[in-house]
Amino acid sequence: MYVRPTDLQAALRALRTHPLCVLAGGTDFYPQRVGRALREDVLDITALPELRGIARGDGEFAIGALTTWSDIVAAPLPQWMRGLKQAAREVGGVQIQNAATVAGNLCNASPAADGVPVLLALDAQVELSALGGARRMPLQEFILGSRRTQCRADELLTRILIPERNDAARSAFLKLGARRYLVISIAMVAATLECDGDGSIARAAVAVGACSEVAQRLPKLEAALLGQRLSPALAQVPMPAHLAHLKPVADVRGTAQYRSDAALTMVRRVLEQVALD
Ligand SMILES: Cc1cc2nc3c(=O)[nH]c(=O)nc-3n(C[C@H](O)[C@H](O)[C@H](O)COP(=O)(O)OP(=O)(O)OC[C@H]3O[C@@H](n4cnc5c(N)ncnc54)[C@H](O)[C@@H]3O)c2cc1C
Repeated sequence: MYVRPTDLQAALRALRTHPLCVLAGGTDFYPQRVGRALREDVLDITALPELRGIARGDGEFAIGALTTWSDIVAAPLPQWMRGLKQAAREVGGVQIQNAATVAGNLCNASPAADGVPVLLALDAQVELSALGGARRMPLQEFILGSRRTQCRADELLTRILIPERNDAARSAFLKLGARRYLVISIAMVAATLECDGDGSIARAAVAVGACSEVAQRLPKLEAALLGQRLSPALAQVPMPAHLAHLKPVADVRGTAQYRSDAALTMVRRVLEQVALD
């Protein structure tokens, strides 16, 4: 069975009545099924225009589930969301960015998903909708592990919600791969810093991806950044102890030690980049 409904309620009804695999841009879905016939029943959500686009209101940005990485690159977003645009430009090549959705990146829940650290550092929440209504939860709670999320079989991730920051907030994203473009991350880092009126840091969020089963925030570093001035000297704040809770693995892309060292260097660089922005 292949269902392609044209309104959200019909999609949610279909999910309620039958076990279906959700298909959005297909850029994770199809590569996971190479060389075998598609046996699952599919819910193709690409004909639900209400799920595409970015809306601003009620103190937050709402990114619809069909919003692609190219939509993020093209959108007139405020300067403090620059990190999200930087991540968008790093997801595959332009063809992938044109088809692939931000929501699909989160639902696929790969440890190397570039969207996760940057959205963690923006304090994103996800909205999960089912026939009976919708629930919200922080992205940090949504992803349970590699390829495991809190999305139930009768639910769709419908929106990603990012709380507004003040105009002085800044964010940045850095990715390390074995080559410059079209590469699976060895490590990636994202930071969002928000200053109060006197120019000192009032809110800090720093996240590291691909160095544990799920991308992690660095709460000890975030606490150490509070009250500091926004300057390139911030690069001296991160210490190995701030990243001690990460659990990098060794794989074909790098050893655990390499990942640890790289993550610390990248955290320093991303803070410098935010400060110089
Ligand atoms: C050549 C290539 C390069 C890539 N490069 C990168 C890269 O550099 N960085 C990176 O992070 N990723 C990369 N990817 C992976 C992929 O492009 C991204 O993860 C993308 O954002 C997935 O979105 P999609 O819309 O294609 O998801 P799909 O493939 O359609 O779906 C992915 C998973 O999420 C589920 N799903 C999708 N949407 C929803 C929803 N709204 N509600 C509930 N479940 C849903 C699907 O059931 C499926 O399990 C690459 C892929 C390819 C093929």
